[in-house]
Amino acid sequence: MRAPYDLILVGAGLANGLIALRLKQVRPELRVLLLERGNVPGGNHTWSFHHSDLTPQQRAFIAPLVSHRWEGYTVQFPRYQRTLRGGYASVLSGVFATRLLAALGNDLVCNMDVRSVAPTSATLADGRRLDAMAVIDGRGERPGPHLTLGYQSFLGQVLRTRTPHGLTRPVIMDADVAQGEGYRFVYVLPFAEDVLLVEDTHYVDGAGVDLPRLRTHIAAYLQAHGWQDAQLLREEHGVLPITLAGDPDAFWQERAAQPCSGLRAGLFHPTTGFSLPEAVRLADLVAGQQRLDAPALSSAIQAHARACWRRHGFFRGLNRMLFLAGRPQDRWQVMQRFYGLPEPLIERFYAGHPTLRDKLRILSGKPPVPVFEACSALLASHASLQRKP
Ligand SMILES: Cc1cc2nc3c(=O)[nH]c(=O)nc-3n(C[C@H](O)[C@H](O)[C@H](O)COP(=O)(O)OP(=O)(O)OC[C@H]3O[C@@H](n4cnc5c(N)ncnc54)[C@H](O)[C@@H]3O)c2cc1C
Repeated sequence: MRAPYDLILVGAGLANGLIALRLKQVRPELRVLLLERGNVPGGNHTWSFHHSDLTPQQRAFIAPLVSHRWEGYTVQFPRYQRTLRGGYASVLSGVFATRLLAALGNDLVCNMDVRSVAPTSATLADGRRLDAMAVIDGRGERPGPHLTLGYQSFLGQVLRTRTPHGLTRPVIMDADVAQGEGYRFVYVLPFAEDVLLVEDTHYVDGAGVDLPRLRTHIAAYLQAHGWQDAQLLREEHGVLPITLAGDPDAFWQERAAQPCSGLRAGLFHPTTGFSLPEAVRLADLVAGQQRLDAPALSSAIQAHARACWRRHGFFRGLNRMLFLAGRPQDRWQVMQRFYGLPEPLIERFYAGHPTLRDKLRILSGKPPVPVFEACSALLASHASLQRKP
């Protein structure tokens, strides 16, 4: 008997939401059901990306979701400030939710907690079982022993300033701030002439986030820029995984033949933890599959994720240098040096496609952290890091 759905997508977050939207565009005949535990799809996020992360076709697909776009952005370090020309854009989860609800209608069900997921069925919290040709598990990150991670933890506040703030483009890294127990920077997006998103961000070893401390940092940053009497409109916070090393075979064995998406499939940029570009690419991949049964989908997604893993080896090495070499309060120097490199190289780095020449360029010269520690961090493996006390 034919299953009542072609696809059930569990978790209406970024990855599954984009898969659903892409399928509605190119395969509207498919019966797709999207199940979300929260009362809205997409949660509370600002998802940003560099234009150069996506192809023109992918940018056209995401365009209706984009709320803000800028030509150029700035980085600020103790030794210099630099403006880069590349485009930058943000998707707000509120717009994402509206678009998804409009496209899916009754096929998007919120307040629906899914208790367990199998390749061809989803069991709801009330015990009902729904069957499909395939189920994609997009319930976000699943912590496990097969990845050694550092973390990027942050708190963002959207604020209305009393007078125009004067910023015309994003400051995606202001590292000219006091450093803490890891690399710290402030990320600022100007949404309107009197509205800003200000995020205090830390590259730290543990997954905890001390929200009161981050609020104090933002207050100090606002004070330093004359924005101290700004009105708080909204807050968002997150702890994003930064991959140092891992065992991809064990990671995928644990998932058996379950099709997964987004963070659950390990699909994020290893150095920034950002996943919008990977989610767009996965939506393309799923929509382009001839066969959408669970075994075919699972092996296509796994092959794609493993190829990403192999391509990302260089990034994991750099992350180990950032997290394991030198004193935590000196780690900003790694980023300061990186942002001094040519802009096309920086764009390829964020898009996840540095060339061999780029890699040599990034690693050449005197490392900004002690040489011996930098080399041993580059050579460390998942197994050796697991053995560390
Ligand atoms: C505040 C914040 C800002 C970020 N900013 C950026 C950015 O600027 N650019 C970028 O590229 N990345 C950004 N990221 C990182 C990354 O893109 C996001 O974490 C992204 O949302 C991950 O996508 P996902 O689909 O894997 O998971 P999510 O978007 O987290 O989606 C998972 C969904 O599954 C649902 N769910 C979980 N369990 C169940 C269950 N049992 N039953 C039903 N539903 C369930 C959740 O409610 C959630 O809606 C940000 C992350 C955060 C937290």
